[in-house]
Amino acid sequence: MIKVILTIWMFFLGASIGSFLNVVIYRLPKGESIITPPSHCPKCNHRLVLWDLIPVFSYVFLRGRCRYCGERISIRYLLVETFLGLCFSILFLNFDFTFFTLKSLIFISFLLPIFFIDLEHMLIPDILSIPGALSGIILSLFEGRLIESLKGGIVVGIILLLIYFLALIFYKQEGMGQGDIKLGFLLGSFLGIKMGILALFLGFILGGLVSIVLVILKTKRLKEYIPFGPFLIISGIFSYFWGEELIRFYFTLF
Ligand SMILES: [Zn+2]
Repeated sequence: MIKVILTIWMFFLGASIGSFLNVVIYRLPKGESIITPPSHCPKCNHRLVLWDLIPVFSYVFLRGRCRYCGERISIRYLLVETFLGLCFSILFLNFDFTFFTLKSLIFISFLLPIFFIDLEHMLIPDILSIPGALSGIILSLFEGRLIESLKGGIVVGIILLLIYFLALIFYKQEGMGQGDIKLGFLLGSFLGIKMGILALFLGFILGGLVSIVLVILKTKRLKEYIPFGPFLIISGIFSYFWGEELIRFYFTLF
């Protein structure tokens, strides 16, 4: 019974943090403070009260519209809150209140806003990637993996840095943003070298496949820029949880 209550509680804790991350996703790229002013509707400026701000429920209850002016609210709010709520409760169900649960939740909570900000604005704020990388390094101290964490961050960062310079030399344009390099450092600091390189590899495969599909569907042209961060983040989270299994599975094929 206690486990059920705690699982529900973890869902709301995650959803509430997701609610805060939504503010970060909305305000950070505009250079606005994430603390003041209090939450308000961007269209009618009406200040939101407690009832408008209950994670997941307010959105569903108000059917994704502002209570005061009827303006549509981005589905992203619901997605981020639900996703993080599920991450919190599923991790708790599988791993209880362990160091691994805490580390995983910190990892995901840094990556989630970077995912949406890069997707929409093609930008990865240093204020997220640098504290994220530092968290990875500090958390590794508690596991006695400091060197592994530093190596992971540096190796993944340097590979992306090399690709960045090669693209500048051969294509005379930035193949990826400088933010991707710092994001690579963040991922490596949590994943270590082996999983970090796997994440990079999977990120390029995924990014390539999606780019091909977008070009075929004519949503994007060949020269258009597609942010690389979201692919790195998906493959990073995948490698973090299932990378070892994927590698083991791969070797059973031969
Ligand atoms: Zn409104």
